[in-house]
Amino acid sequence: MDEYELTIIGAGPTGLFATFLAGLRDIKSITLEALDHTGGQIPELYPEKMVYDVQGIPKINAIELRDKMYEQAKLFNSRIELNSKVTDIILDNEKYIIEVNGEKKYSCRAILICTGIGDFTPRKIGCPGEDEFNGKGVEYTVKDVTKFAGKTVAIVGGGDSALDYANELANTAKKVYVLHHSEKFKAAEKTLDTVMQEKDITLLMNTTVTAINGDTSVREITTVNEIDKSVDNIKIDALIIAIGHIGRPNVYKSVNITTNKNGRSIMVSDEYQTNLKGIFAVGDVATVEGEPIHPLIAVDGGNAYIAINFIKKYLTPAATIFGGHSSNLNI
Ligand SMILES: Cc1cc2nc3c(=O)[nH]c(=O)nc-3n(C[C@H](O)[C@H](O)[C@H](O)COP(=O)(O)OP(=O)(O)OC[C@H]3O[C@@H](n4cnc5c(N)ncnc54)[C@H](O)[C@@H]3O)c2cc1C
Repeated sequence: MDEYELTIIGAGPTGLFATFLAGLRDIKSITLEALDHTGGQIPELYPEKMVYDVQGIPKINAIELRDKMYEQAKLFNSRIELNSKVTDIILDNEKYIIEVNGEKKYSCRAILICTGIGDFTPRKIGCPGEDEFNGKGVEYTVKDVTKFAGKTVAIVGGGDSALDYANELANTAKKVYVLHHSEKFKAAEKTLDTVMQEKDITLLMNTTVTAINGDTSVREITTVNEIDKSVDNIKIDALIIAIGHIGRPNVYKSVNITTNKNGRSIMVSDEYQTNLKGIFAVGDVATVEGEPIHPLIAVDGGNAYIAINFIKKYLTPAATIFGGHSSNLNI
């Protein structure tokens, strides 16, 4: 069994930066990623978008940013294993055994959980036809806008993802509907303003989808207005369901890691330590008690820096918490 000082679970933006930082602090680490690619939410949920709020980079395509993160993560040749879903963590004396895809594979002294919103299981509407037409017109993300060129598209949801998709598709698709179950959107103001000004987007508020119909692919949805209970049928070519993802951060049955009430977030101290000695968590998956959540790449990265410094101290008590400035190093 290969031994490491630190196992990093997840190679999203936080796990990738933590991988680099572990190298910077001379910690022997392995990073395990469930998917066959790195980048977490970036390639799964917004590959074509531009990102503007990473320090020192005024504007960058999300995938390009992920590629730069990967390049940085590999600076010290740290090991990153893809297709490696961590299925359990087992305490073994002072060490942890990491089970990957059901098989006990690695041993380590510390763990940093960076599993973000989990394993990207999309939240479903749960209406007839949803499973039948999954992949045949029913989608949960937009990875390539050109796929929807000239089509009539209905988008379900009222948050940032749904309205971002609506804006992205407005210029490509023939027609875009946004269906939201309530009368208030939860998206950022700027996104909402753009949607409101776009004449090719029709907003159907207080509306839910009750059935998805078609033949070899989706042709129509049945909707209900939740206020007056009127039923309608809308002809469409594609349905994008963007109502979030079901996160399951603590799927490790042999250890009892404390999560918040709904089980979606791992509770950590301000040193990013969980309730279990040697197990840390940071990024979108972690919440410091009593502090607001900022699910942002730059914030997660800064927190990963703090976590890695405390992990260094945990692994090597004689080490200082602050490891110095990278500009002083001759890498
Ligand atoms: C539409 C959208 C737009 C966004 N735009 C911006 C933006 O402009 N600027 C910004 O700063 N932030 C943005 N964000 C937020 C940003 O993407 C997240 O804050 C960031 O991805 C969090 O990184 P993470 O590594 O903590 O988690 P994630 O990105 O969720 O990555 C977690 C990784 O862990 C893996 N994983 C999960 N479970 C396991 C397991 N058991 N074993 C192994 N691997 C596992 C997952 O496969 C995934 O790769 C946006 C988010 C969305 C949805």
